[in-house]
Amino acid sequence: MARKHKMEEMTPAEFTVAVAEKPVFILATGILEWHADHLPLGTDALKMRGIAERLAQEADAILLPQNWFGVVGYDEMLGTITFSKDLVKHILGEYFENLEKLGAKLIVLLTGHYGPYQVETIKEAAAEYMAHSKVRIIAQPEYEGVDFSGFPCEADHADKYETSLMMALYPDLVQMDRWKNELEIPYEYEPRENAWGYRSPRGKWEFSEDFREQASPELGERLAKAIVEHLKARIDEELAQV
Ligand SMILES: [Zn+2]
Repeated sequence: MARKHKMEEMTPAEFTVAVAEKPVFILATGILEWHADHLPLGTDALKMRGIAERLAQEADAILLPQNWFGVVGYDEMLGTITFSKDLVKHILGEYFENLEKLGAKLIVLLTGHYGPYQVETIKEAAAEYMAHSKVRIIAQPEYEGVDFSGFPCEADHADKYETSLMMALYPDLVQMDRWKNELEIPYEYEPRENAWGYRSPRGKWEFSEDFREQASPELGERLAKAIVEHLKARIDEELAQV
């Protein structure tokens, strides 16, 4: 039987073997956040999960269940749920602690939700943990370090990149018939407090272009492959130093 990679599906015996052979854990993170009219609210987390599943197979790593706790965020927009920086750092710190207890030598924390605040939060959590532990942690958005020069897009919000990745990973969840260029941003809620005083952008939502012809599952597949290849190489690099 092929080796399992999802921790929640492993028996104790399978888990023990997996940790002994390759003590690498992947934690994919994202949030619920408005992603225009054609993509699901869970796009960031789902996209990250889909990529992380492939990475776990390629790198023979152990994939944890999805983490949905992240920081701002288009908080005022329809369907968005975010949490405070302190809480998210705390949760991540306790994940690291638990994974070290389970035998992790390398933790790969990947966020499919971006923005400087989310990236700062996960990198700080990782750096603070590594300062007093021998565990190595890669903490980054999935696109970091990937060469996109051969692609017609790079990481974005609900634009060509995310739409193509979702088409490749979850074709049933993309509704291109709902796509429109002139999009009113659905400001539904009062802003919540956050550590940076960040407020959602105002005005109309603007896409880079009408990408209905350019976004495709084929492009999504190529993007996913480039991301997985890069991250697998990063894992090997880090493991060489353990
Ligand atoms: Zn997104």
